[in-house]
Amino acid sequence: MRELTTDGLLDAVRAWVEIESPTNDAAGVNRVADHAESLLRGIGATIDRTPGRDGFGDILIGRVPGEVNGPGLLLLGHMDTVHQRGTFGYRVAGDRAYGPGIYDMKGGNAMAVAALQHLHATGKRPRLPVSVMMIPDEEVGSPSSRAAIEAEALKHRAVLVVEPSGEGGKFTVARHGIARWHLRTEGRPAHAGAYHAEGRSAVREMAHHILALEALTDHPRSFFVNIGIVQGGTHENMVPAECRAICYALVPTVTEQTELRDAVHALEHHDPDVTTTVTEGLGRPPFGKTPAIQALYDHAAMLAVETGLPSAGERVAGGGSDGNFTGALGVPTLDGLGVIGGGPHTREEYVELRCLVPRTRLLARLFETLGPGVAGL
Ligand SMILES: [Zn+2]
Repeated sequence: MRELTTDGLLDAVRAWVEIESPTNDAAGVNRVADHAESLLRGIGATIDRTPGRDGFGDILIGRVPGEVNGPGLLLLGHMDTVHQRGTFGYRVAGDRAYGPGIYDMKGGNAMAVAALQHLHATGKRPRLPVSVMMIPDEEVGSPSSRAAIEAEALKHRAVLVVEPSGEGGKFTVARHGIARWHLRTEGRPAHAGAYHAEGRSAVREMAHHILALEALTDHPRSFFVNIGIVQGGTHENMVPAECRAICYALVPTVTEQTELRDAVHALEHHDPDVTTTVTEGLGRPPFGKTPAIQALYDHAAMLAVETGLPSAGERVAGGGSDGNFTGALGVPTLDGLGVIGGGPHTREEYVELRCLVPRTRLLARLFETLGPGVAGL
């Protein structure tokens, strides 16, 4: 890609989007991986592809050499989308392009690879080696790839995530975390009419737990605790012997994450004959802005101005991404470097066509300039 043009980039984006890849469709995700692999091979990247497990697609890493050897940049993207096949198709209307995953986040993946292709085609190299890592299961919390992401992050100087930007192009410098806990109470069944006194209600005990946990919610702190699923009892004429619930919480910092964990473990016994078991579910640790992230942000913001983008701005994002894992490990992570658009996880997902050239140029400039002595690296 010698010249970066809107039409050329739109074709590149379209190619990613037209390969449908809901998370639970490993074959579809692997076709995206095939596509990414062939693009990366085309610019001389070394390919490292790990077969998928637990029903998910493969993890793909394309390693692009830099001018300087040693630890480089980890570029993170995910290949899966939340849209089942055939839900809606790619289309362009006015100054927007729509399609499944176009905003979250195939547009970002396409731009990142196009930026590397652009450097390659113009006889340039990234300053540092770049590992382009494509994840198959981000939309369900990256259960099959978290360990690999963390291991790669620790081998790199910094992580760039091409998840969509915030409103107007803002970069993401911190993300709230997500915590999930599975609760189960077990009591004793009894005929609710004839032998009520002998029963021990698991639902009643769970009701106490729900109130205790939801009471932690603190809106001004952006700390939300939601018991979104409760299942208990088998018959209205029986004292319920079992109840299950899932507690899902947005935890802005480790303080809230710890607060919730402590509360879950300290749940009070109201009925001594009912047992409660708690298990931690899939989550994403929060990551906060560090001086190293500030330095990365400052550098990217300067390049953004240079490429003609309106001053980028920064944001703390509510939702999670794979950047949560790397940021929480202390590896400098700049997220939200992908497209400008909107409507994530809806049929109206779109990208703004006018962002494609400047945002791709921004990525190319980041690859070209980030190196020892720059942005704290
Ligand atoms: Zn995403």
